[in-house]
Amino acid sequence: MTGIKKVTVLGTGVLGSQIAFQTAYSGFDVSVYDISPDILDQARKRFAELAAIYEKEVPGATGGKAAQTVGRIALYSDLAEAVADADLVIEAAPEVLKIKREIYEKLGQIAPAKTIFATNSSTLLPSEIKDFTGRPGRFVALHFANSIWKFNTAEVMGTADTDPAIFDAVVGFASDIGMVPIPIRKEKAGYVLNSLLVPFLNAAADLAAGGYAEPEDVDKVWRIATGAPMGPFQIYDIIGLNTPYNILSNGDAHAQKIAAWMKENYIDKGKLGVSTGAGFYTYPKPD
Ligand code: NAD
Repeated sequence: MTGIKKVTVLGTGVLGSQIAFQTAYSGFDVSVYDISPDILDQARKRFAELAAIYEKEVPGATGGKAAQTVGRIALYSDLAEAVADADLVIEAAPEVLKIKREIYEKLGQIAPAKTIFATNSSTLLPSEIKDFTGRPGRFVALHFANSIWKFNTAEVMGTADTDPAIFDAVVGFASDIGMVPIPIRKEKAGYVLNSLLVPFLNAAADLAAGGYAEPEDVDKVWRIATGAPMGPFQIYDIIGLNTPYNILSNGDAHAQKIAAWMKENYIDKGKLGVSTGAGFYTYPKPD
């Protein structure tokens, strides 16, 4: 028993909407907060889209179960109301330290003392945020992957100040919402997933940008020789090229050269991946 029943998700964008939906779908009492009623209208659309995706892709989500989930999510544009009785707040606000700082400074004042805080941040370390929370013992990172109904890892990473009982409660909660919890024992930028994935994707782009092999052939080698279901360029297309481009652009001169190749050949041509119908492959039916 984790003691977690009521969950509030802050931010209803790509990941926040998925986290809220999956948590409500798993039977928890869920509230969401976003900054304006207009954005909450967009959130309602996102939840309806997720219900349709669950009906198609999640075994057992038929018979109205997914559609009913939408009606069980309470939406707020008032932070104090949204977190009034929360056992756990999961923050999925923009990846900007200043925004996160403002959120936690406010949250630390208005959330009940019992509330655990978890950030879904992909690139910030929890120790960069913990002091803004006013309760570092009850603060962890809880990192989901995009499309959480099928890519269901939840990496849990505390700081030196995190209470081990809180860490364990969040691991238990992740499991209760159908995730495979992965405890990260020490703070590590990129957690496990991105510590592996980012260098892997960079190496693949280096091969194609350097003219050594075509993207399809790089993917072919990886699939055939390792038995993996997807090659790196198929993964790029799913992630969307903007984020990898930004990461490469922040790197050294060689990484910036690869970024320029990606921009010129793909991004500038509107080929951003699956979401735009083309990236390294064309969709819906890549060869
Ligand atoms: P997003 O831009 O799609 O959504 C961010 C949401 O936060 C928006 O709805 C925005 O209105 C809202 N917001 C803005 N200011 C806010 C505030 N002060 N308080 C609460 N909400 C506020 O972003 P996203 O892709 O969902 O990413 C959110 C977090 O999740 C980031 O920390 C990111 O690193 C992490 N993450 C993203 C992915 C991904 O694939 N997109 C994967 C794992 C983790």
